[in-house]
Amino acid sequence: MTPRPSAVCAAPGCDRPPRPFTGRGRPPIYCSESCRSRAVRRPDRGPVLVELVHPTTARRQRPSGRVWTIRLRRGSDTVTIAGDLGHASARNLADQIAGILGTSTQQGGPID
Ligand SMILES: [Zn+2]
Repeated sequence: MTPRPSAVCAAPGCDRPPRPFTGRGRPPIYCSESCRSRAVRRPDRGPVLVELVHPTTARRQRPSGRVWTIRLRRGSDTVTIAGDLGHASARNLADQIAGILGTSTQQGGPID
């Protein structure tokens, strides 16, 4: 018994039926070459952002001292680059990283 192919194309946002199964190899899961290449390419998860964040402060005061953290964000993924920085040096480093990445620094609020 052959595996039953999916009823719709596996590419995100496409609801056409996949190409007919020729009986050779695996049943097609995409309707077209363009859907296949679109789905195989790394999905676009948005730009990389450089975030400058700090711990929660009382009454939303601007924090002072070496409390700033720099992290990179893409979608829901983050990586911390540096922490325990003063604001000026954190801002400077974040702007340099943003310059290399061709993005901008987001001066963030408290770390959630
Ligand atoms: Zn398709």
